[in-house]
Amino acid sequence: MANLRRCSFCGRSEKEVDFLITGVDGCICNECADQAHQIVVENMKSKNAPALKLDKLPKPIEIKEYLDQYVIGQDDAKKALSVAVYNHYKRLRDAQAGGGDNDVELEKSNIILVGSTGTGKTLLAKTIAKLLVVPFTIVDATVLTQAGYVGEDVESLLSRLLQECDYDPKRAEQGIVFIDEIDKIARKSDNPSITRDVSGEGVQQALLKLLEGSVVNVPPYGGRKHPEQQFIQVDTKNILFICGGAFDGIERKIAQRLNTHVVGYGAVENTAKVDKNNLMQYIAPMDLKSFGLIPEIVGRLPILTHLEPLDRQALRSILTEPKNSVIKQYVKLMEMDGVKLTFDEDALDFVVDKAVEYRLGARGLRSLVESIMMEPMYEIPSSKKKSFRVTLDYAKKQIESTNMAVIAQKEA
Ligand code: ADP
Repeated sequence: MANLRRCSFCGRSEKEVDFLITGVDGCICNECADQAHQIVVENMKSKNAPALKLDKLPKPIEIKEYLDQYVIGQDDAKKALSVAVYNHYKRLRDAQAGGGDNDVELEKSNIILVGSTGTGKTLLAKTIAKLLVVPFTIVDATVLTQAGYVGEDVESLLSRLLQECDYDPKRAEQGIVFIDEIDKIARKSDNPSITRDVSGEGVQQALLKLLEGSVVNVPPYGGRKHPEQQFIQVDTKNILFICGGAFDGIERKIAQRLNTHVVGYGAVENTAKVDKNNLMQYIAPMDLKSFGLIPEIVGRLPILTHLEPLDRQALRSILTEPKNSVIKQYVKLMEMDGVKLTFDEDALDFVVDKAVEYRLGARGLRSLVESIMMEPMYEIPSSKKKSFRVTLDYAKKQIESTNMAVIAQKEA
């Protein structure tokens, strides 16, 4: 039949399809229109994805103010993080704008946070993640081993970042990776060739490639459990790396360095200034090298900042001040049962005393409050009580009936 209309794309006649849409010079059938729609959606997705909205970004002071709501103290680390994140955005904006019209290329400044366990390194990373507009992930360096050994290859650090952005490498390339426990891949001995060091120097060399910026093949599902997976190529040039570690015992290296430096002229004057109770504040890149990080890695982590040990006053603030402090969480839990929960000031002081006495740190605060609240949490929901007050006596009684050794072990 000569006058039967046909789809200009697939050629099928109007009898073979559900319906045809007529244009100026041709027609399109419902199926081709549907397919065309999907192609448009896919294309727009990849076109729009890398274009982050970088015009209204929080300034460093605003980022720090946000961190202040959740993390007590640690001003140096907060400032370093806020500036690094802000500069990361600026670099991305510069790249989006085609690098500007001059030859100044903005290089990234990866960060390393050093501080004893439980001083807030991971908390800082998690808190800043809530504010970020770029993909962000926290990974643990302890699982890494040299390629070919049991454990994960360094490239798998980026698998998690890819998962965060639906496996879109363009977006992953703008992301931030927090590598926790970086100290665990330190060389175990000063002599690099003493034994085969599967989890030390080899891993550092592999990590160096990522920090320096290179195109790496990332297994999208991580690990080696999916041998059939197709690698995704990711360029790490613009990925910001933030590393964190406790570096247990690094104070000794700092002390050694300070001592050797103060020998001779002016020695007496300098030694007097050193605060022996908080040596971490004097940390320098060379201490990381003495601890067992290779110089190239240290060089690729130009911003070195430390976290302060938490003193009594800091622990006391951590208990009540952060937006989601332990006490606020318990008050909310009780509120959900219509019960007003209050803590006497001296009861809170007592909790802090116990945390200090048993060296439990900030993590221990939760366990202590939990043991105080166990009984009331069990009984009150079935009672008619509308309020509950934790007095010093009550706190003492509950803690005395708790096996502190168990809590101490849990936090160790
Ligand atoms: P780490 O330095 O070992 O990564 P975390 O960040 O995991 O320590 O801290 C453990 C817990 O202790 C946190 O979840 C938080 O409840 C509390 N904490 C530690 N340091 C701080 C801090 N500076 N401000 C508020 N809470 C803190």
